This record gives sequence, structure tokens and C-alpha cells, in this order.
Amino acid sequence: MTDKRIYNFNAGPAALPLPVLGEIRDSFLNFAGSGMSITEISHRSKWFEDVINDAVARTKRILKLDDRYQVLFLQGGASLQFAMIPMNLLRDNETADYINTGTWVAKAVKEAKLLGKKVNVVASSEDKKYSYIPKNFKLNPDAAYVYITSNNTIEGTQWDKFPETGGVPLIADMSSDIMCKVMDTKPFGLIYAGAQKNIGPAGVCMVIIRDDLLKKVPDTLPSMLRYTTFSNSNSLYNTPPCFAIYTVQLVLKWLEETVGGLDKMEAVNRQKAKMLYDVLDAGGFYKGTAEKDSRSLMNVTFRLPSEDLEKKFIKEATDNGLGGLKGHRSVGGCRASIYNATGIDAIQALTDFMKAFEKKNG
Ligand code: PMP
Repeated sequence: MTDKRIYNFNAGPAALPLPVLGEIRDSFLNFAGSGMSITEISHRSKWFEDVINDAVARTKRILKLDDRYQVLFLQGGASLQFAMIPMNLLRDNETADYINTGTWVAKAVKEAKLLGKKVNVVASSEDKKYSYIPKNFKLNPDAAYVYITSNNTIEGTQWDKFPETGGVPLIADMSSDIMCKVMDTKPFGLIYAGAQKNIGPAGVCMVIIRDDLLKKVPDTLPSMLRYTTFSNSNSLYNTPPCFAIYTVQLVLKWLEETVGGLDKMEAVNRQKAKMLYDVLDAGGFYKGTAEKDSRSLMNVTFRLPSEDLEKKFIKEATDNGLGGLKGHRSVGGCRASIYNATGIDAIQALTDFMKAFEKKNG
């Protein structure tokens, strides 16, 4: 069956490590000797408690989080965070700074405004189709937080150096690049990521939150929309998405034990991205859409000389076992999403195909 698997460049849900899928298959009917599947056991059982505790412990180790941070597993996708963040962390007499680098930030701004919150868009790259990460901007020293999206999945840009906030808590949507490289988490008050790109399947959102921000949470919010509900219950206030959390646990185990940690993962990711960008820069046939100093390690976006050629490229790639290369419907073009689970072998197959396609059609 595995020989029928394709090279998967989907943007999310996305490729998962093959050993993780194999472990799920092997344990599916009888999880940890329980005589039940992971999809059948109680979330209050010792078996599941071990799963969630291990997922939290691994996250803390991988990201070197200190004791001030809690790791939570929430539902509602990454999109619910667009609203939960201002609801929980932005009081009516406060303002927050947002740096608008793409579609997902724009959505977060919209949700905050819907709630009647005061939001300053302090910088934006919308003027050039979000093809770069803004550099010179002034942040408000009194802001409740500074909000960024660390990797712009649709536009193929990524923050290299995070903005200096002078102690104002940084909040990041890391849905499409969490755990792709070594980073200093200290400036962050909150980090969140829909799991379905770099750390698991759809259905769960990881939220990492610092204790000073937890203290701000108003207890007048509905329980399911309050971070403290989940921080006070080890994410077990209600029935969590057990299977998704289990898969996250296995992906984190793979990252620590098979890959060898974040520094090793980063080295592989840099090599993968370089292989692809080298092809984009080689001849003028392919054209990267992101400015060079803002390029993403995770989503490589590019155009071909015409839309007809793009259609042909995507079709022939699919016929050759290279899937998911169509750009997001809002921007068109092509996109190769090359998250942690995408191996060098996949990139090699893609770059070989791209060179051959260019030779035939260039
Ligand atoms: N933020 C980013 C950076 C994303 O790429 C996405 C999904 N592609 C989202 C948020 C929304 O995620 P979800 O579908 O889990 O709500």
C-alpha cells in the first residue's frame, strides 16, 4: 500500500511522517494494551492522560519553554483564535498592534474589530500583494500585545527575525511553521497553531500561553471561550479531540527521537527550501512570488510564464505522483508546501520534475 503513496505538497491538512502513520495503524485496534482503539477510550482514562501529558512535555522540551508557559489543546481550528485572543487578552480600554502580512492576519483583524476591540494595523505588505515582511514600523509601547503571523501560508513569506516589542507580549499564529526551526520563545505571550500542517491532523489547535496573559482572562466569558478553562483542566474541561492529540504526540515523538530535535529539523528544512528556491532562481521560467529576504521555509510559492502552463504543470505533476501543487484559490499560481514531514526525497522528485518540465516547455 505504501508504494501507492504520492509525494504530498498539500498546504494543510498535509503530509504526516510515514512512521507516525504506521504506528497509528499498528496500534489502532488495541491502544497501549487497553483492548480498545484510541478512538474508543475515555478521555478521563490513564491511557489518555499519558498521551496528553507526553504531548505537553514534548512541546515544552522541543521549544525550550520555561515554567511560565502552559500548553493547551483547543478546538475551533486556528480560526477561533482570531476571536479568542482579543476576547481574552484585549480589554476595552486597551489597543493591540497587528502587523498585516497576509490573508490570515487580515482575518484576525476583522474578528477583533467585530468584537468592537481597538486594533492598530501598524504595518502592512498588502500594497505589494503581501509579497514581503515589513521592516520599518513603529510599535505602540502601550499596546496590550503585538500580533503577527510567523509564516504566511498563502503568500509564501515568513518572519526571519521577529519584531522587537520592547517587552510588549508578542502573539503569533504559527499554524504553518511551528517547530520548523530553532527559536527564542521568551518574547512570546501566546503562540498558537492549527495542528494540520506541521504537527498533526486537523481537529486540534495548540495554544502556548504565558502566565501573565492567563491572569488577564475575564471570567465573564463563556467557559469554552476562556483560556483559563483549559489551563485549569489540562485541556480536559470537556471531551477533547483524543485522536488528533494522540497523533500530535506521535509527531512530536518523531521530531524528538527520529529527527533528533529542532536544530536537526531546521537543517533539513533549510536544505529542502534551498533546493526548491535554487530551481526558481535558475532560469527565469519559474518565478518566486515572495521577495527573496522574506521567503518561507514551509510554503514555496511560484508562477510559470502563463496560466495555461501552470495548469499543465499541475496536471502533469499530479500524473507523476506529485500532489497538492496548486496555489491557494485566492492567489492562483503554484505552491509547494514542504512542512517538517516532507522528506528530501520528495523535494528531489519535485525539482527533477520541474527541471524536466522547463526543458520541454521553456
Ligand atoms: N492561520 C494560518 C497561518 C493558516 O495557514 C490557516 C489555515 N490554512 C489558518 C490560520 C486557519 O486555520 P483553520 O482552518 O484551522 O481555522
